[in-house]
Amino acid sequence: MATGGGWAPARSVERHGAPRGGGGTRSKSVAPCPRRPSPSPARSRPAPDNGGSADSCRVRVAIRLRPKNSEDLAYGSDFDSCVELQPESKRLKLKKNNWICESYKFDEVFSENASQKRVYEVVAKPVVESVLEGYNGTVMAYGQTGTGKTYTVGRLGKDDPSERGIMVRALEHILSSMSFETDRVAISYLQLYLESVQDLLDPEKTNIPIVEDAKTGEISLPGASIVEIKDLEHVFHLLQIGEANRHAANTKMNTESSRSHAILIIHLQRSSRIKEENSSLSNDTHDIFPDDLPLVLKSKLLIVDLAGSERIDKSGSEGHMIEEAKFINLSLTSLGKCINALAENSPHIPTRDSKLTRILRDSFGGTARTSLVVTIGPSSRHYSETSSTIMFGQRAMKVVNTIKLKEEVDYETLYKKVEREVDQLTSEMERQQKLMKNEKMQLDKKLKESEGSFHDLRMTSNIRIENLEKEKCQLESAVKTLMRDLEEERGQNNLLSEQIAELEKLVNENKQQQQLENLSRMKIFTDTTKEHEKEMEELLRQLQEERRCSSSLKDRMSVLQQELCDAQSSTQESMAHELEKKLTKVTEEFTSQVQSLKEKISELISEKEVIYEELKSTQEKVQQEMLHRQGLEDQILRLKWSTSDICAEESKTSYGMVRSGSGLGNAAFVSKSGKIREALSGQRGTISKIFEEVGLPNVLALLKSEDLDVQIHAVKVVANLAAEDINQERIVEEGGLDALLSLLETSENTTIHRVTAGAVANLAMNGSNQGVIMNKGGARLLANVASKTEDPQTLRLVAGAIANLCGNEKLHLMLKRDGGIKALLGMVRSGHAEVIAQIARGIANFAKCESRVISQGHRKGRSLLIEDGVLTWMVANSTRFSHSTTRHIELAFCHLAQNEDNTCDIIASGGIKELLRISRESPRDDARNLAKMALDSNPAFLREVQ
Ligand code: ADP
Ligand code: MG
Repeated sequence: MATGGGWAPARSVERHGAPRGGGGTRSKSVAPCPRRPSPSPARSRPAPDNGGSADSCRVRVAIRLRPKNSEDLAYGSDFDSCVELQPESKRLKLKKNNWICESYKFDEVFSENASQKRVYEVVAKPVVESVLEGYNGTVMAYGQTGTGKTYTVGRLGKDDPSERGIMVRALEHILSSMSFETDRVAISYLQLYLESVQDLLDPEKTNIPIVEDAKTGEISLPGASIVEIKDLEHVFHLLQIGEANRHAANTKMNTESSRSHAILIIHLQRSSRIKEENSSLSNDTHDIFPDDLPLVLKSKLLIVDLAGSERIDKSGSEGHMIEEAKFINLSLTSLGKCINALAENSPHIPTRDSKLTRILRDSFGGTARTSLVVTIGPSSRHYSETSSTIMFGQRAMKVVNTIKLKEEVDYETLYKKVEREVDQLTSEMERQQKLMKNEKMQLDKKLKESEGSFHDLRMTSNIRIENLEKEKCQLESAVKTLMRDLEEERGQNNLLSEQIAELEKLVNENKQQQQLENLSRMKIFTDTTKEHEKEMEELLRQLQEERRCSSSLKDRMSVLQQELCDAQSSTQESMAHELEKKLTKVTEEFTSQVQSLKEKISELISEKEVIYEELKSTQEKVQQEMLHRQGLEDQILRLKWSTSDICAEESKTSYGMVRSGSGLGNAAFVSKSGKIREALSGQRGTISKIFEEVGLPNVLALLKSEDLDVQIHAVKVVANLAAEDINQERIVEEGGLDALLSLLETSENTTIHRVTAGAVANLAMNGSNQGVIMNKGGARLLANVASKTEDPQTLRLVAGAIANLCGNEKLHLMLKRDGGIKALLGMVRSGHAEVIAQIARGIANFAKCESRVISQGHRKGRSLLIEDGVLTWMVANSTRFSHSTTRHIELAFCHLAQNEDNTCDIIASGGIKELLRISRESPRDDARNLAKMALDSNPAFLREVQ
């Protein structure tokens, strides 16, 4: 800030106390007038650089001396200059005459040489800067007419920038300091004449009212033009208009410009950011407005070119109309009174007395920073005007203002911002609505589609339900028929069971009879043997006796020969001769006795041979009886199988029916399988009848059916047919065996495995089929099934099939090679009595046939069963199972014991004990006898027993 001539900035003055100097200046700082209303609602804050009491700001007053004009020069010698300036001490000396001289101190003293620029910088620039910061400001020129007020304040200097007055320079300063993006500057240019406010920019507007805000006390002039300015050209243009209008108005009103007050109001609005620019502000300030609220600093700069001050004293004296003089005086007089009151700190300030004081209300004793230029002329001619002007300045220097910053919410920016946000939100809402609409349309579409498909589904479901209902009815009737058939089948079964019981009874009778026969035969045999043994013992005793006689005779003969030798030596020849005769006689007797004994022995031997022959024939008869019995037992077993098969089929058939009735709806199958089931229901006879009608090829073709149920039933039919001797060979010839074996190999179905194994077991009853089954790998397939299943029924049937094959000695080697024996033994894991019964039967069959072949000399070596571990199992389990199973195991054991090549294995496996047990405890005679025979005939066994 250019303070050149000692014009101190407001704050430094405050810091150093009230201005000093003569003229009655008061050192006491005047507090802001409490009667003045606060300029709220805008936020007011004190000048940031004043701190503490620094908001008090005295009115600055500078004095400017006009250079002498022609008039002054004309009066030169008469009226010398009454003014003497002391710029360095900022003092002015006013000489009344040669003796009286008064000195006044001002804030600045400008000599006649002071430039417009310097005056601006010292007087106006601090105020303009304050206005740019948001405070109100006033720059005013006061002085007698012709002393240079208009020159100082209003000079345009369009062509000569050095001539420009405060108005132009202030606007120039503001325009260069503000931002056109955020800030705005506008001016109103008014003239106050005869207490009437006239718009100099629009002279039609006169009598513009002065309105005071009741709350804030702020003054406004509604109706006055406010023209926003953008550049200096515009400023010149407007000020020229104003000047022209002021001149025209004055001409029209027949007056002078010096009678009117010209007021230029510069309205400045700047955007404000509290945090950035004024971070030192108190928390209270932050509490008033939120941080994001746009704020504006609104300030006003009043540049006032007052009417000539001489009128106060000289009004009326120069012939003006009383009214006019009165009004001109009114404003200036009021201003003088207000200044006086303020300077004297009077409780009443008569601000309302004139329009000028109302307009300048904020400039003196208000919130504005105010500077006053007091213009004077040098001539002593106007001493009294100059003196009163100086006194006005002196009083004005005592006026203290309280400058305050006014910030307002920038509602316009806020409105625009909110409007922008509302626009954005509206467009976003529209976008969302559109999206929702689209989504809704898509959902509607989907819903329609879903409804359509749901309707279709319901229709289809209804049709399906109807079909299922129909099927259910059909199946129910089929089940009824089947139940009826089942009942019939049960009846037939009962018949069969009765037949079996009868047959068993027959067999038992037969068995008892045979046992009786055997007992009697054995008794005869034993008795005969005992007799023969006795005879033989007698003969042996006789033979011993003879041998003893013979040795005594030999002893006697040697004695006699000794005697003879002795006699010969004693020459008694006659006696010797006689003794020789005796000796010859005795020798002859002995020889004849020996001869007779030899004859007797040969007789005994031939007799023994006859007895042995008899024994052998008896044994053969027993053997035949056993075979016959075995046949009968097999037959009973077969009958039992077929009965249990039928029972199983009964349950499976009904199960199958129920299952096929669960809605699969294969009508073709129902009718086809119905036929087959009908065939099944009538037992063998009926089966044969239907079989005749359907024909074996057709039945066998069904074995290859793709329908599992059909396949199962076809296998059942074939199994039933295969139980009949007459069908067994034919089924094989027609390819039935191939189909069955293929099923065993390929099917994964347990039922198929079970019924097929049954069918194969039936076919394996036939001797000529057995070879075919083995050649086609039947044993291997059965072994495979046995290894894969745990179903006791399947295992029982597989074991049965292998057991049948065991009864053919020609197939033994192949059966062993194909794993048949191992599979048979492996099935004991089932633990099921019926399965184990079949296993035992198979082993017994095998051992018996093998024993026969070996005894006939067709084969040699140890049993094939031993190699596969059968012997060990038999020894360990012979008495663990039912009687019939135990009987089979015992028989098998006895047969194995007949083969001398098995001796070592039997001994090693602890079989001797078993053999002894069978020989003593077995309920079967044949087993006991066979065990005894083995024990007696085998020296190794005899040794072990001992
Ligand atoms: P006022 O407005 O006080 O009645 P003016 O500004 O009209 O006085 O000045 C009267 C005359 O004096 C004008 O011709 C003006 O050019 C001249 N004048 C005033 N002050 C100065 C100055 N400081 N330097 C040169 N001329 C001046
Ligand atoms: Mg003037």
